[in-house]
Amino acid sequence: MKERTKKIYMHLKELFPNPSCELIFSNRYELLVSVILSAQCTDKRVNIVTAELFKKYPTVYEMANANLNELENQIKSCGLYHNKAKNILSACQKIVLDYNGEVPSDYNKLLKLSGVGRKTANVVASVGFGEDAIAVDTHVFRVSKRLGLAKGNTPEKVEKELMQELDKTIWSESHFLMVLFGRYVCKAQKPLCEECKLKNECLHYKSLNS
Ligand code: SF4
Repeated sequence: MKERTKKIYMHLKELFPNPSCELIFSNRYELLVSVILSAQCTDKRVNIVTAELFKKYPTVYEMANANLNELENQIKSCGLYHNKAKNILSACQKIVLDYNGEVPSDYNKLLKLSGVGRKTANVVASVGFGEDAIAVDTHVFRVSKRLGLAKGNTPEKVEKELMQELDKTIWSESHFLMVLFGRYVCKAQKPLCEECKLKNECLHYKSLNS
């Protein structure tokens, strides 16, 4: 790993010594549903909704038999609820029918579940199964480009660049570090640049101040 990349990683580790997923879940089914719900929604809001949701649908079997309208109502505040409800229902039905009620560990099988794109599959693979994976969400995409860790214009390209740039052993951890850094410091609208110790490494900061 390049010295510069190492420096960025060490600083993020200093800021967030124990980075982890902020979604609350107790098994892979709950993790999968939570990650689907988290698209364009805060983890905080998802946790509020799932606290009730998982009481009503405690396992993938109950969820696979859920009534679509009731499910939509229950997840409405997470946004995009028509699609999210349809996808959750369909993904859970496939898990029951094809995988004996177990969320599959295979990355390509995860990708075939409704509502599961690369980001969701990577989060489930890394958090649910302990695989090395870099999920590129909006925070990881923004932070890695601002810091010059990646240049690509799609999440998939950025994911590939980060896999080259970072040691495999820190892929999953780096995802959470960048999510937290993006959420609390390098925010989309008003990044806290003046107090950021990565100013000297930051392409975005340099471009704004040149
Ligand atoms: S200097 Fe600003 S834009 Fe650059 S990494 Fe820090 S907070 Fe983000």
